[in-house]
Amino acid sequence: MVAPFHTDQIFIGGQWIAPNGGRVLPIENPSNGETLGRLAAGGAEDIDAAVQAARAALDGPWGRTTAVERGRVLARMGREVEARIDMLAELEALDVGKPLKQARADVVALARYLEFYAGAADKLHGETIPFLDGYTVYTLREPHGVTGHVIPWNYPMQIIGRSVVAALAVGNAAVLKPAEQASLTALAFAHIAEDCGLPAGALNVVTGTGAEAGAALAAHPGVNHLSFTGSTGVGVVIQQAAAVNAVPVTLELGGKSPQLVFDDADLDKALPFLVNAGVQNAGQTCSAGSRVLVQRGVYDEVVRRMGERFRALTVGPAMDDRDVGPLVSRKQQAMVERYIELGRADGLIAAQATLGELPSGGAYVAPTLFAGVAPDHALAQEEIFGPAVVVIPFETEEGAIAIANGTDYGLVAGVWTADGGRQMRLARRLRAGQVFINNYGAAGGVELPFGGVGKSGHGREKGFEALYAFTTLKTVAAHHG
Ligand code: ADP
Repeated sequence: MVAPFHTDQIFIGGQWIAPNGGRVLPIENPSNGETLGRLAAGGAEDIDAAVQAARAALDGPWGRTTAVERGRVLARMGREVEARIDMLAELEALDVGKPLKQARADVVALARYLEFYAGAADKLHGETIPFLDGYTVYTLREPHGVTGHVIPWNYPMQIIGRSVVAALAVGNAAVLKPAEQASLTALAFAHIAEDCGLPAGALNVVTGTGAEAGAALAAHPGVNHLSFTGSTGVGVVIQQAAAVNAVPVTLELGGKSPQLVFDDADLDKALPFLVNAGVQNAGQTCSAGSRVLVQRGVYDEVVRRMGERFRALTVGPAMDDRDVGPLVSRKQQAMVERYIELGRADGLIAAQATLGELPSGGAYVAPTLFAGVAPDHALAQEEIFGPAVVVIPFETEEGAIAIANGTDYGLVAGVWTADGGRQMRLARRLRAGQVFINNYGAAGGVELPFGGVGKSGHGREKGFEALYAFTTLKTVAAHHG
């Protein structure tokens, strides 16, 4: 058995049960194409049962749990996640194809989210507002109620941390629909919640396909808030479904995030980020720094030095813990290979890693550096979601800003320059939810609000902002004369 629990069960109202109709999906190991086990294929009835269980929890013990107690149970879960790091990392590596070291980093991040939101649970409060004579006015931050979470396969544990954990911290009851390609750690998380005494129904997990379980959750009239992370196309579908029920939505979608490298940048410091931010998790990262914009004076040097690093990248099965693992599926592999062929046909490949002996059936792609790419080329505009980085030359600061802001996306941007004035100007003018100056990604930054503009989505998760997003504000005006 791949996991120390049944993978073909769903978790509803504190019970592990077979999905309605008992249907299953295969669990594939992207490192070698083998089948790891069977996953429950939940459908609309299961989602309905999960939403009802969540509602019952809000009307029952979970709804009466104080903020202090919510914090304590999340803190216990954080310690338990840390204690089970080997099991969680191994499951994620097998399921997603993530090199073991990167999977372990995700476990650490989930534990950190639990720690952060455990501490924050009893620190969210309303305010009093000066008003007319004879009134006392104050605000209450209340949970939305039942929150629906549709999450993707690239960082399941981190996204559970920033979305489900934050929602629970402020007293919502959550229904989680993980991605069908990577549900094992979501199920493990539910086991940990159960073992740590999270009241029944506060967290429900229904695995299954997006078209069935995901769509049913998005459309369910009993859901009071939807949080989605995934592709822009599905995000739009989720928002349309939410609109029918007039439900608020947080959307964390794709990106084509630029890193701007100026002539005065500290290249020794920048280079690891210029490469790693594009190839970490095999480039399957919404905030990947996948467009590197380089000023003419250092352009040749940056392309040469990035090329050396790309050629040196090692690729292999997740459990071998190389630099880059397989993509999550053969389908993703085919999509990324199409982009590489496009770059090859247009003569844009500057460097490529060599794939050695690899298990047949694995979804491997050679990490690829494209250079001299025109800003309007498909490779510079579309999210590739693979271990590929595009280098684009620029001449001036104004030109760099125009290129950086010249896609439909706006998730993250990085600026590499020693000029303090330029740092401040760019931080304001770049169209993105996060701007990093002389770093990229800030080590995950659990505390740092995260989200996009444009086709990268809207709403913010992570940090304290998530607590505002997962609550609604009530104003109480008392007239007492
Ligand atoms: P990716 O492109 O990263 O695979 P998707 O946007 O397809 O991401 O999937 C992200 C999540 O959305 C997954 O949990 C998937 O099952 C779910 N999903 C896919 N299609 C739909 C849909 N039509 N309605 C609701 N959820 C969906």
